[in-house]
Amino acid sequence: MIRINENYKKLQSSYLFSDIAKRVSAFQKENPEKKIIKLGIGDVTRPLPQACIDAMHMAADEMNDIKTFRGYGPEQGYDFLREAIAKNDYQLNGIDVAPDEVFVSDGAKCDCGNIQEIFASDITVAIPDPVYPVYLDTNVMAGRTGFYKEGRYEGIVYLDGTAENGFVPELPNKKVDLIYLCFPNNPTGATISRDELKRWVDYARANRAVILYDAAYEAFIRDDALPKSIFEIEGARDVAIEFRSFSKTAGFTGIRCAFTVVPKSCCAYTSDGEKVALNGLWNRRHTTKFNSVSYPVQRAAEAVYSSEGKKQVRALSDYYLKNAALIRKEMAALGFDCIGGENSPYIWVNGKTDSWAFFDRLLKEAGVVVTPGAGFGKCGQGYIRISAFNNYEDVQKAMERIKEALE
Ligand code: PLP
Repeated sequence: MIRINENYKKLQSSYLFSDIAKRVSAFQKENPEKKIIKLGIGDVTRPLPQACIDAMHMAADEMNDIKTFRGYGPEQGYDFLREAIAKNDYQLNGIDVAPDEVFVSDGAKCDCGNIQEIFASDITVAIPDPVYPVYLDTNVMAGRTGFYKEGRYEGIVYLDGTAENGFVPELPNKKVDLIYLCFPNNPTGATISRDELKRWVDYARANRAVILYDAAYEAFIRDDALPKSIFEIEGARDVAIEFRSFSKTAGFTGIRCAFTVVPKSCCAYTSDGEKVALNGLWNRRHTTKFNSVSYPVQRAAEAVYSSEGKKQVRALSDYYLKNAALIRKEMAALGFDCIGGENSPYIWVNGKTDSWAFFDRLLKEAGVVVTPGAGFGKCGQGYIRISAFNNYEDVQKAMERIKEALE
């Protein structure tokens, strides 16, 4: 008898975005004349940078010429892109990352979901709350948790984000093996200082743990005091893996390109205590299960690092940051405590009431869609996430409507 992976039965159905969609469509039916403004889902709205489009066109033409046509590329990504990433994102900032430590992929979602399979199934995993749900669900699928009880999975060490700690969790009070961190954070927009990040690196070194550092939103950091990469921290190369993406940086959510950095000195252990380099394991996993990203997309990603590309990409994140600043300013002026919106495209607002009640009020009274914080974990209750990914004019309109509704 064929049997299923019963860990899947432990998963909680994620009703968050479908619940939101249902409430929005019911409201729209009752108010067909009302233009709803969506500041909910974290998807980009601006078109791709011209430098990326030009590079894709050229690559498409190469694919139409027998002399330049390419079939399968290297599983880890073409050298031209791995070298551009290592140089521009790391080496030019004084960070030690080599091209063969960069693994190109079709998304940080897949990478931070897939990476856990190179670790043992009986390790202890620490996951923040509130959280980007992929980290949690992929560990449930892999059987690293017990059942879901009172809003949490048994066996997971939750790292609580609260107003008191500014949504930068404290170190765990028990020994853990694998730690997920994400800064600038989705959903809270919180950022971490170098000193705070150093405490995590020191913890990982002392406990022979590994940190999975999701830096998908690093392009939004403007404050030089904040680390853009965990590898800025001394000792991190031995205990950390970093995920990055062109999705929010360069508008690639629909094009798909990202990368993971696995330093050659980052290790984990066999049950006998033998040290094993994770770069080799991830390379093995990648070459067995992945055939990399299409050539035109990798050329488009490479163009992000051209001089024109750099300017255009910066303009994109500047645009969303301007939206974020406006949202934060207006919500703060209405008396709400906010996190994020600076160095981040998300604003995490303490609604001082049930997340869904606040969501409903903003939808019904202002025609604005946000995301209820409770959908990201227990600690998200009472909060909403407002996304800056929209047109400035619509963000302005949304803020005027919210002001009118709540004042
Ligand atoms: N990591 C975080 C924290 C995200 O918020 C997202 C997307 O919303 C991703 C990863 C996924 O990025 P990608 O589009 O590269 O799969």
